[in-house]
Amino acid sequence: MIFDVLTLFPEMIENHCKYSILKRAVENKILSVNTVNPRDYTLDKHKKVDDTPYGGGGGMGLMAQPYVDAYESLEKSENSITVMLSPQGEPLNDTIVNELATFEQIVMLCGHYEGFDERIREIIKPREISIGDFVLTGGELPALCLIDAVSRKIEGTLGKIESADEDSFSNGLLEYPHYTKPREYRGISVPEVLLNGNHKDINEFRYQESLKRTKLKRPDLYQRYVEKIQK
Ligand code: SAM
Repeated sequence: MIFDVLTLFPEMIENHCKYSILKRAVENKILSVNTVNPRDYTLDKHKKVDDTPYGGGGGMGLMAQPYVDAYESLEKSENSITVMLSPQGEPLNDTIVNELATFEQIVMLCGHYEGFDERIREIIKPREISIGDFVLTGGELPALCLIDAVSRKIEGTLGKIESADEDSFSNGLLEYPHYTKPREYRGISVPEVLLNGNHKDINEFRYQESLKRTKLKRPDLYQRYVEKIQK
């Protein structure tokens, strides 16, 4: 999987990928994360990438020319998708992450300041994705969320032991609770069923716990799950 990120702050993206599981996946050539800085493509002699908005109002808008030229400089594979990180996009979820993981290349556009000149959207026609109904100062953290979440779905990124198969959302439910050593901590014991080695009982316990906590924490998900299994 190739991630190409258009960003004014490439170090933010590059630094994150130097740690832990992503670092290992990059070293093993399962992922490649590249950055392109629109500032390197501006035709402005002062290297400007932003300017005041027509119609007035506060803040600075990102100029179309540096973004469009930076975007067009990238080689795109036949199986690539372009994503604009934007609070106005579809809210990211596990279904979208799975869909994005089927592409060979994801090109991402990170905004800043007041956001993109509208002509960037009109020319590039990206899929707009939001990481939630709140506004951040830039698209780098959302791009990293997307890189991180999609990477976990790419075979080889996670070791066998870290498998994503049972993670929350994979079967429509939140994941069951985890316990590790010691067996008792501050008077709280690990549930007995997890200690007896009976995998049928353990699976049933975990399933019931998943149902219980989904119903409690995410009634919307629970409702959808119940409707799905009743079909
Ligand atoms: N003025 C824009 C608006 O109200 O829709 C917000 C611009 S925001 C301050 C600057 C950049 O941060 C955006 O262009 C986008 O790339 C990124 N961003 C902010 N919040 C985001 C979110 N919830 N999801 C994805 N990207 C976000």
